[in-house]
Amino acid sequence: MKRIAVMTSGGDSPGMNAAIRAVVRYGIKSGLEVYGIRRGYAGLLDEDIEPMTFASVGGIMEKGGTILRSSRCPEFVRKETRAEAAKILKKHGIEGLVVIGGEGSLHGAMFLEEEQKIPVVGIPGTIDNDIAMTDMSIGVDTCLNTVVDAIQKLKDTASSHERAFIVEVMGRSSGYIATVSGLVTGAEAIIIPEVPVNYEELANKLLEERERGKINCIVVVAEGAASAYTVARHLEYRIGYETRITILGHIQRGGSPTAFDRLLASRMGVAAVEALMRGESSVMTALQGGKITTVKLDEVLKEKKRLDMELVKLAGILS
Ligand code: ATP
Repeated sequence: MKRIAVMTSGGDSPGMNAAIRAVVRYGIKSGLEVYGIRRGYAGLLDEDIEPMTFASVGGIMEKGGTILRSSRCPEFVRKETRAEAAKILKKHGIEGLVVIGGEGSLHGAMFLEEEQKIPVVGIPGTIDNDIAMTDMSIGVDTCLNTVVDAIQKLKDTASSHERAFIVEVMGRSSGYIATVSGLVTGAEAIIIPEVPVNYEELANKLLEERERGKINCIVVVAEGAASAYTVARHLEYRIGYETRITILGHIQRGGSPTAFDRLLASRMGVAAVEALMRGESSVMTALQGGKITTVKLDEVLKEKKRLDMELVKLAGILS
């Protein structure tokens, strides 16, 4: 193998730059030529491809987002489009591809290998922590820290004004961010897609806590469970005091990656290049019990990552 390429696709997540840096630098040190594909699959189809150098990835580790930029490319779900993409990769002499992204991006990579026999290695990069067979994806830790920081600030103002704050956080199908951020900030309630919510019981719990003298009240809700507006509507007339809504939105995607994410991304970037050089394909780098390994993409994508319900239990016990 002489030449490989790296791209970021789908929703960006903090730490993607550290992964790009590791792929480029380890690739070059291993004697490969490394190309960068800008704007994910859309950029690949537009042949937005350029050689990367050791220096071109200098000073990017601490930056949020992705220097290669990202995109959604709906037409990539079509087999003919993927055949076109494979032709472009071959035209540029690219013999292996590293795709950094979430579930959708990994699906695209898997099909590219299955149908077009392009060797691919995926790196899980998404803030949702919804990718199976890896303990963590790149960006989750930074996102959690951003959410915790925001909730902490809301707690200050919540206690000054004796209001309930409903905080909506990311998590379309996974309650991981809501559960962990709620747990470590001592939120009074956490609403997640995995557990049906009973607003009557929730309101009674909040009222009891208020009677016991608790003056601040934070309810964390994962976007996939309910909108903060819906939660506020259900609670306000039952608890009889003011609620305030905060939707954290895209700030959760931004920010300088934490040390954990930089390290995870660096390890996974190196592991991805090693996997390609070993001749592995259609695999994803994964963190399992502290070790970096590779797992088959088809197995990752047929499994749904389950939230550790011990965390939910713990949050309930400690709040
Ligand atoms: P995140 O979940 O963090 O937003 P993601 O990678 O899951 O990231 P998607 O928008 O789902 O984001 O997917 C990114 C791109 O991957 C899509 O725009 C499309 O080009 C490609 N893709 C998604 N699903 C498929 C699929 N089933 N087959 C082929 N390509 C796909």
